[in-house]
Amino acid sequence: MVAAVQIEVDVSGRKVVVFGTPRSARRVLGRQLRAGARVTLVLPGPVPPVEERVAGVRYATQPARSDTSGLLRLVGPAWSVVLVDLDRDLRDRVTELCRQLRVLVQSAPPAAEQGQVVLVGGGPGHTRLLTLEAVQVLAEADVVVHDRLAPTDDLAALAPGAELVDVGKSPHHHPVSQRAIEEQLVERARAGALVVRLKGGDPFVFGRGGEEVQACLAAGVGVRVVPGVSSALAVPAAAGIPVTHRGVAHAFTVLSGHVPPAAAELDALVRLGGTIVVLMGMATLPLVVDGLLGAGMAPRTPAAVVERGYSPSQRSTFTTVDRLPAEVRRLDVRSPAVVVIGDVVALAPGGGAGGDLLAALDSTWPAEEVPGR
Ligand code: SAH
Repeated sequence: MVAAVQIEVDVSGRKVVVFGTPRSARRVLGRQLRAGARVTLVLPGPVPPVEERVAGVRYATQPARSDTSGLLRLVGPAWSVVLVDLDRDLRDRVTELCRQLRVLVQSAPPAAEQGQVVLVGGGPGHTRLLTLEAVQVLAEADVVVHDRLAPTDDLAALAPGAELVDVGKSPHHHPVSQRAIEEQLVERARAGALVVRLKGGDPFVFGRGGEEVQACLAAGVGVRVVPGVSSALAVPAAAGIPVTHRGVAHAFTVLSGHVPPAAAELDALVRLGGTIVVLMGMATLPLVVDGLLGAGMAPRTPAAVVERGYSPSQRSTFTTVDRLPAEVRRLDVRSPAVVVIGDVVALAPGGGAGGDLLAALDSTWPAEEVPGR
């Protein structure tokens, strides 16, 4: 292995010669074409029939290692050569010729033979809260099927070889049905693509990730899951609220407000104590709060609602549980928002109620990237 540095280059209008098979090089071809390169694929066998060719790509058959003039005709006019898969001898010869000609040589891993679906948790919406594994999988993706709350700002750069498909759901508005999303994942993977299903937060926290895994398994399509930073924990933190704190809360419960919890469940929650975090809670908030107060929760229990966590327009509202629904109405609080109820709220800067134990905490994150803060 030669020591290498990673560089970013503008290939638009440049001639790029790729060594590999149509299958192994398909990701590289897609990426180069999207970046505007003039691409030639040099493959081991005969040039494929027209109907199997990728539009915009020129095809040529690999010359033998000893055929210097044949090799020079190919790599001589190139601005860059990308080596995907070719036998070692030829690889060495091409590398040597490129060095003499001062043509840039890059290596790229061959695309997997089989298609696959990878469910990726994208975190609460900021690119910097993607995991390293998520970034890696996106870089290799052929297709990215993403939701509204996934981090989409830098997606084109993170997944340069991928077609981006927006199936963005917003509350009560599902432009693409769950069933259709599952069919799409399965179909694209069957056709050989590495399909990334990018979701907000963690795929298994109210994300219907389990259903998508089941759909893939039922169809015999390979599937794996990359966990993500869930908004249930990260969005309270964005407002400086720790969901647990020694001596204050040693448990937290995450509820979906999508289907309002039954009275008996809320009763059990109040008896359990600890922090209550509600996702998708805007529509049913008055019901949930009534249920909690009816079950004996102290009306002055600190409560907060954090909208659009990690976005430039993030807003945190601190109050008490009895006043929460009225505050939400008055301030026109909107989804996406996370509700936090419990004594930990008083620890946060601005959490009030005589607490503010973390008052000096800078919870504006990442400060340097959020304009106007
Ligand atoms: N799988 C996701 C949750 C999906 S449910 C996760 O683990 O985070 C969608 C709900 O998540 C929204 O209604 C909202 O309550 C919450 N949410 C997600 N991202 C958010 C953000 N950036 N700010 C505030 N709430 C968010």
